[in-house]
Order: sequence, then structure tokens, then C-alpha cells
Amino acid sequence: MNNIPRREFMKLAGMGAAVWGLSQRVLAAPAGGLVLVEAENFQQLGGWVLDQEFMDQMGSPYLLAHGLGEPVADATTTVTLPAPGTYRVWVRTCDWVAKWQAPGAPGKFLVLLNGKPLKTVFGTAGAAWHWQDGGTVTMSEKITLALRDLTGFEGRCDAILFSQDVNFLPPHDGAELAVLRRQLLGLSEQLDDGGSYELVVVGGGVAGVCAALTAARSGLKVALVHNRPVVGGNNSSEIRVNLAGKTGQAPFPNIGNVVNELGNKRQAPPGPENKAENFDDALRMKLLRAESNLHLLLWQQLVATEVNDGRIVAIVAQDVRTGRRIRVTGELFADCTGDGQLGFLAGADFEVTRKQHMGPSNIWQLRDAGGPVAFPRCIWALDLSGKPFPGRAVRGEKPLPADLTKLGQWYWETGFDLDPITEVEAMRDWNFRAMYGAWDSLKNVDGEFPHHQLEWATYLAGKRESRRLLGDVLLTAEEIVGQRIFEDACFPCTWDLDRHYPDLRYAKGFEGREFISEAHFGKFKPPYWAPYRCLYSRNIPNLFMAGRDISVTHDALGTVRVMRTCGMMGEVVGLAATLCRQHGVLPRGVYEKHLAKLTAALGKGAPSKVAFGAAC
Ligand SMILES: Cc1cc2nc3c(=O)[nH]c(=O)nc-3n(C[C@H](O)[C@H](O)[C@H](O)COP(=O)(O)OP(=O)(O)OC[C@H]3O[C@@H](n4cnc5c(N)ncnc54)[C@H](O)[C@@H]3O)c2cc1C
Repeated sequence: MNNIPRREFMKLAGMGAAVWGLSQRVLAAPAGGLVLVEAENFQQLGGWVLDQEFMDQMGSPYLLAHGLGEPVADATTTVTLPAPGTYRVWVRTCDWVAKWQAPGAPGKFLVLLNGKPLKTVFGTAGAAWHWQDGGTVTMSEKITLALRDLTGFEGRCDAILFSQDVNFLPPHDGAELAVLRRQLLGLSEQLDDGGSYELVVVGGGVAGVCAALTAARSGLKVALVHNRPVVGGNNSSEIRVNLAGKTGQAPFPNIGNVVNELGNKRQAPPGPENKAENFDDALRMKLLRAESNLHLLLWQQLVATEVNDGRIVAIVAQDVRTGRRIRVTGELFADCTGDGQLGFLAGADFEVTRKQHMGPSNIWQLRDAGGPVAFPRCIWALDLSGKPFPGRAVRGEKPLPADLTKLGQWYWETGFDLDPITEVEAMRDWNFRAMYGAWDSLKNVDGEFPHHQLEWATYLAGKRESRRLLGDVLLTAEEIVGQRIFEDACFPCTWDLDRHYPDLRYAKGFEGREFISEAHFGKFKPPYWAPYRCLYSRNIPNLFMAGRDISVTHDALGTVRVMRTCGMMGEVVGLAATLCRQHGVLPRGVYEKHLAKLTAALGKGAPSKVAFGAAC
């Protein structure tokens, strides 16, 4: 691939990316007696998982010891130092419960050099990400480095820094740390060429997959840029949410052809049956890879946009594992990130509901181990002993029989009043504290479920609501309930207006930090056909959007956000992008000049590999 010279970019995603070319995460060439080892670059991750969700806020992907209370296997790598000698070792981490002044530091881990642990136990201090001092140690030039989890309770490590100058103090975060990373990792100012496309889709949830497949099958050269190893977003095996919403609706029953191909027709029941196999990751990859003009860029996080004359001309994506950055150019772009991140970086108008919005959930489930199985006490988790939560009802002092099927369901939801962009790590961690607290109190206080254990929990925040980009129409709940007819009606909404609020039955003692939601359903007569003008930005002329970040109000999001509906938006975007190319117009031009052609395309539907019009 060619190197592309540095360009001016509108905006970078966060402080961690504030310096250009920052994050080429190869193991550092020694420079000035400092060597930086990024955790995501470890040669073997062992049982640690790679979490990129918060890199815009804390500056980097990191490794997480997501062991559900069982310490995970060591992550290991080898490092070459500038010379043998004495070094101070710094480890960038935090005590993830300290922001709530909770005791116990659950995320403890050790750092081993040539098999020998440093004296410091890491993950034990600091509410914020920072460099924890590992003391000085004398080492040979080549060393093996290992992260040893001590608890299985979500310990986290961003990077390890070796300093020959034992008095050197690394900057804890922000631009200064970004500069240091750049220097130590020997990064160039160059971007690799990620290719040139007619449509660049960012975000491979159901909406993005359907947009990319529809456009590619219609003949466009398409890139799908996605930051995880598998596509599907909330409907992937990584998060495990079932598809809802009806396809096959009149007058355009073929809208839905592509989302119908995505599988996942088995609705996984709550609890132990909600297995990874129920979510058709492999099928989606196969469908995407079958399209020769569709380029799938996995593990790529959008970090910047390049805008000329108000239009997006390129995006920059960073490989989450290696730090390599590519420039992907395009004529049309589709924001399917759920968070409106592409539009935000490009300067698109958007709306956020800051308080009383829907929060993320981290679904979890249990299994019968077939014999007694212990679980450690979790003094750092939410103290739910004697308190009610779904699955553990209490009348007076007396617990009622516990119900496994209510544990870890969608309504274990938090963060209603936190910032839905910048505070998602705190929301995810509060979900963890609720899960571990509930299980601790059931098992260790109530003595319930002696043979059960936590089997699985997603560490990825399953998000419902964040930014919504503004289009030429901002669709409201009142318009949906009132059946307002739009001439550019293009995708059907069939799910009730489903909005979540804290469930007050479980809120006592957690006011403002509730961890259980309830759904409030507003009724309308389905299907309601929503307008095309919600699917493109009102001020970035070559930007489409599909999914939960389209131009609707908070209340209207209650219906459009279910995933078959999001998939159908993607199909419409794919069809409209094709019309843009055929007629030399931008997204708004499809409405203004070619509405009849759009209507005809909706009637025909997205090119599909299976029978048209199948209802779900
Ligand atoms: C617990 C829970 C239960 C739910 N229940 C249901 C249900 O039963 N049925 C239903 O249909 N819906 C349900 N929903 C709602 C639904 O899952 C979401 O509204 C839907 O996933 C939105 O789809 P999307 O494609 O817009 O976004 P997402 O599914 O969020 O996909 C967006 C993708 O973009 C990727 N991405 C984000 N930023 C970047 C970036 N910077 N660079 C590259 N890639 C990026 C993300 O990794 C993500 O996978 C539920 C949601 C939750 C959390």
C-alpha cells in the first residue's frame, strides 16, 4: 500500500488520537531510554480480551481480564530493551471501582518480567487511567513480559513503559501522552492507502451490513469499516440481542429482503440457551465476502474525517490491534456507527438527549455446573443483599424464590443520566457492579443456586441511544402516532414506541444510579412508513445514515431502533446511494429530483439472494 502524506483533517476522535499518526502500535523501537509496550500488541493475549470501546476517551484500546470471577490466562510477549540495566516500570491502568469510592480493588493483576512478578499489585489505585509505578528493576536486554490476572474481575491494562531514567514521570493522559506514544512507537506522519470507493459505510451493525450488501449488489464499489472482528453489532454473538421488527410490509414488501438473509430467525430465549451459535456471525461474513466489489475492513476504528468544501472526502481508520492507520476515500458515506460518530467528526448537526435517555446493557447468563460451585464475595460490587432486583424478590425480610431467567436480561440497564458518549465506560462498569453484586448476594447471602455459575457476559456495552444526526426531516413520535404521511415514505416501523426509564421498584438506595429499567410502550398503528429524508444529513451533503443514529427524536427512536427496521434503513440507503451514482446527485438530490425512481427502487427492493417478501 502507498503511503499518503499528512493532510488536514477536520476532527480527530478524542484526546488519545489528538496527534496525527499517533498510534501505529508496533512494539516500540527503543528511544531515549524509554520503551513502550502497548497491551494490545502482546503476542499472546491468553484469556485477556481486547476492548477498543473507549479509545476516544482514554486514548487506546486495552486488555481486559473478563473472567467472571475466574482469573484469566496470562497475556505474554517479548520485549527488547535498549541495553541491560536498571529501569523503572510504569503500567497504565486504574482501579475501576474507585470512581465510586468502592473498596476492594477487584481488577488486580501482576506484571511478570522473565517469569518474576514485580512487587506492585496493579489495578489497585486511581479512579482515572494513569501510570501506576511498578518500581525499579534490573533486567537483561531481552525479556519476556506477562500480565497475570489475580481475580477474573475486569482488571485492565493499557500499556507498559520501561524508563532508564528512573526519575522520569510519564504524562497520565491527554495530548501530552499522545505525543509520547507517538515518539516511542516511532510513528510516521504517513497514512496507508485504504482504497477509494463509491460508498464508504462505517459501522457493521445490522444497519451497516444491509447498507453495504445492498449497495454492493447494486453495483457500487463499497467499503465497510467496522471496529470489531465480527459484524452484526448488538445482534452479533458478542452482544447477543435478538432481531425485532417486521419486514414484508405493504406497499414495499421487498424492503427487508437483505435483512431477512441475515439469519438469526431463532429467537434465543433468555438464560443459558442464549448461546453464541444462535447469532449468525459466520453467515453474515459469508454474505459480505461473497460480494467482489465489497471490501470488508474489520478491526478498524474510525478516528478522523477529512472534509473539503463541506463534503467528506476521506476517513481515517486505525487498526485496533496494530495501530496502523489508513485513509479511505469515498464519494458517498454512510454513518452506521450507532453513535453518529462519522457525522460528528465531519461536523454534522446532531442531537443528544443528555438526561433520562436509554442506557446500555451488558447481557449475562448462568449455567448449571452440575455440582457445587463457589463464587467469591464481591465487597466492591453493588451491595444488593436484602434488596430487590429482578430474579430476587423480597417481601419484608423474606426473599421469595429466586428466578434465574430474570437475571442478566435487557432490563439490567444503567447510565440514564450519564453522558451517552463520554461516560459509557462508567455505564458498562456499573453494569458489571450490578451483575457481580446480584450474583454475590444470591449465591453467598441467600444461599441460592449452589450449582450455578456465571457462564457468559458481554463486556461490550450494548447501546441503545447516543447521538442522532439531523436530516431534512426530524421525525417525531407525534407524527408516527398521528400517521403523518410523507411522500418519501421508505421503511416500515412496526415496533411500539418503546422507551426505557429507571424501574422505581428497584431504585431505592440507587437514585440517579439506577441499574434496572422498565419499558414504556406508546402505541401506534403499524406499519408506519418513515421518510427517506431522515436518512441523510441536512448539512453534510454526501452523508447518509442508517440505524439508531438517524434523524428522529428521542421518543421516535423508541420504534425505529429495532434491528430489522435498522436493516431496512440500510437497504434504503444502499438503493439511494445507487441512484446517486446513476444520476450524479447527492442524497438530497434523490428526494428533490428522483423521488419517482426511489419509489420504483423501493418497490423492486434490494437485490437479494433469497426469495423476496418473506415476512418476519
Ligand atoms: C440489551 C439490548 C436489548 C435490545 N433488544 C432489542 C431487541 O430485542 N430487538 C431489536 O431489534 N433491538 C433491540 N435493541 C436495540 C438494537 O439492538 C439497537 O437499536 C440496534 O443495534 C441499532 O443498530 P445499529 O446498526 O444502528 O447499531 P449497532 O448495533 O450499535 O451497530 C453499530 C456498529 O458500529 C460499530 N462502530 C461504532 N463506532 C465505530 C467506529 N468509530 N469505527 C468503526 N465501527 C464503529 C460498533 O462496533 C457497532 O457494532 C436492544 C438493545 C440493547 C442494548
